[in-house]
Amino acid sequence: MTDRRTFLKSAGLLTAAATLISPSKIFAKAIRNSNSANSKELILEWCPFEAKMKHVFTIANSSRTTTPIVLTRISYDGCVGYGEAAMPPYLGETTNSAIDFLKKARPVLKKFNSPFMIGEIMEEIDAITTNNCAAKASVDIALHDLVGKIIGQPWWKIWGFNPDKCPYNSFTVGLDTKEVVREKAKEAAAEGHLIKVKLGRTEEQDKMMITTIREVTDTTICIDANQGWKDKHYALDMINWLKTQNVNMIEQPMPKTMLEETGWLTERSPLPIMADEACQRLTDVKKLHGYYTGINIKLMKCTGLHEAREMISLAEALHMKIMVGCMTETSVAIAAGAQIAPKCEWTDLDGNWLIANDCFTSSKVIDGRIQPADAPGLGLKMNKGVNLKYAAQE
Ligand code: MG
Repeated sequence: MTDRRTFLKSAGLLTAAATLISPSKIFAKAIRNSNSANSKELILEWCPFEAKMKHVFTIANSSRTTTPIVLTRISYDGCVGYGEAAMPPYLGETTNSAIDFLKKARPVLKKFNSPFMIGEIMEEIDAITTNNCAAKASVDIALHDLVGKIIGQPWWKIWGFNPDKCPYNSFTVGLDTKEVVREKAKEAAAEGHLIKVKLGRTEEQDKMMITTIREVTDTTICIDANQGWKDKHYALDMINWLKTQNVNMIEQPMPKTMLEETGWLTERSPLPIMADEACQRLTDVKKLHGYYTGINIKLMKCTGLHEAREMISLAEALHMKIMVGCMTETSVAIAAGAQIAPKCEWTDLDGNWLIANDCFTSSKVIDGRIQPADAPGLGLKMNKGVNLKYAAQE
């Protein structure tokens, strides 16, 4: 070794060899060296955050103006990765339950002296409790941001995805007065989005939503019935009518427990039928094969990007269609979801637009398509004036 080194040095090649080290490695080293508090332990901290909605958010049974979120960060050897748990009330997680979980996750992470074994780390994180999927996702997302930063690349590049394949993103037009529906639909169409409409009330109300939108735009519509149709014949009639209204997809038309009926519907439906409430995690995908056309992956349901990547591989192997959705989330979780957008036929990543106090910036929507940032990790930039106090708070 010494001889080779001496030879390289004398041949003047050592400097040349050094220039072959990739810029990302130099960048990562620079980040490490700039921080005096370097530690070869994975240190998890968190910061409770209340997302304030720009408008009152109404779905079938409830309305709300805020969403509880717990932001996370994992530090390692002078690098920092950011994560997020978003917890809309109907999912059963709360700020307190997420923090209780993160307290248990902290010593598990500390045991590892490398962030690269994401699969093994997440296996141990997952084994802590049976639920807490959003809290688990906050660990997974922070790990991905951290590792991407160390490697110096975004995850869509590490995975070899083509960002030109990102589909048009959908924007939800919620239940409202005719006037507001018209105004929001016009706005969404002007920006090149698909329009997503929540149905599942009475036939009259559902058809009124669609015909009101059709008064102002012929932009493609995606439907989310949120399990609202209980009769398969009624559902098929509705879908046949929706097909004539330039609708291109139906999400969760019937209750998730009505698997056989949904299979009957999918067989006859002229539009793809996607599973949302029925599809939480990797183990659900195979069960849904043959009953739904495809799956809606949400990071807060499936514990993050590691499992989402596995769900994509399995769905592709089973020839099932894929979409990625979100909760009301900041740009942290949206930037994570955007990493898998190129593998999806629909993206429904509008959660960060719905909040007034987003604390980060990352992926952008360009001409209606979501574009993951071309920057290391999740490409997050903290917004000016934001002061988040991350700590391992009791
Ligand atoms: Mg849905």
